[in-house]
Amino acid sequence: MSRYLGSVCKLCRREREKLFLKGERCSSNCTLDRKRGKNGPGQHGIIKGKMSDYAKHLREKQKARRVYDLTEEQFVHYYEVAEKMKGSTGDNLLKLLEMRLDIVVFRLGFASSKKMARQVVNHGNILVNDKKIDVPRYQVKVGDVITVPEKYKTNAVIKNLLEKTASSIPAWLNFDKNKITGTVVSEPLAGEASHPINSQLIVEYYSK
Ligand code: SF4
Repeated sequence: MSRYLGSVCKLCRREREKLFLKGERCSSNCTLDRKRGKNGPGQHGIIKGKMSDYAKHLREKQKARRVYDLTEEQFVHYYEVAEKMKGSTGDNLLKLLEMRLDIVVFRLGFASSKKMARQVVNHGNILVNDKKIDVPRYQVKVGDVITVPEKYKTNAVIKNLLEKTASSIPAWLNFDKNKITGTVVSEPLAGEASHPINSQLIVEYYSK
């Protein structure tokens, strides 16, 4: 299945929840904050009524896929890897997703949205342990040091972004403001994901 290229606001309206797919623009000008946007996409919006269990599981899986901007095939791959790991499949799934390099770049504040973070990585503007890594799906490990090349460290856009996100960096990442460098200090715990997702509903969706 190919990647969705339409309006990302439609995806939030479909999930009836702000997914913050446009980064900081979502805080100031969001259609869901306006009354009309609370309806689903399309002429008739979302059909109201009680959701079946299947629909709840499906919607949570779709929400996670949209938050991390993954195709169904990519998402299933992560699920299968999570299933083979020790411990809770749901927690493992979120851990794998959060430890993608593009998500870490977003959480450290090097980009204002996950989409932009993917582009920043794709364009070779991120170093992991002093080595250029241009693969957004790269899995970071505890101890990895993430930064941008020296020439970007004085860039006003980067500095402005870092100022805005400094207060929201999760506990499993450490950010050195002077060196403009982030370090992975631990693996993310359940509940430390970049967006609230009920991973148990996803496990139940794939277990049927
Ligand atoms: Fe659009 Fe962002 Fe609002 Fe979602 S949260 S509807 S992407 S403005």
